[in-house]
Amino acid sequence: MVNQIKTICGYCGTGCGLIVEVENNIINKIRGDKEAPVNKGQTCVKGAFAFEYVHSKNRLTTPLIRKQGVLVESSWEEALTLIGENLQKIKEKWMPNAISMFACARSTNESNYITQKFMRAVIGSNNIDGCNRT
Ligand code: SF4
Repeated sequence: MVNQIKTICGYCGTGCGLIVEVENNIINKIRGDKEAPVNKGQTCVKGAFAFEYVHSKNRLTTPLIRKQGVLVESSWEEALTLIGENLQKIKEKWMPNAISMFACARSTNESNYITQKFMRAVIGSNNIDGCNRT
């Protein structure tokens, strides 16, 4: 059974409406949503065709930590603990503005909101950027 799911393209800030056709949890096709006021059924090449990464076998499925020059698979707990410790060290030694964060256009608005909240409220830095502002 093919499910047709309405969503908003996350590749850029235009916010085109999309219909994603999903079968057995696999995206088969994406087309523009004719009812979306922003794009009225049109999309650019990214919105319509750049979804193969979703099911790519090359996607990382576990964190990697560089140990003695080699990337080694780790648990999320180990990776997040290491990140937290290192952010704390940088913040103490170089001040919060030494830290910046680059948000991802493929993330949801909610994820990007949390990103800026984390940077401003926890880190204390306004150094946030992302490729989804274009
Ligand atoms: S990347 Fe293309 S399809 Fe997606 S929102 Fe931007 S213009 Fe629309």
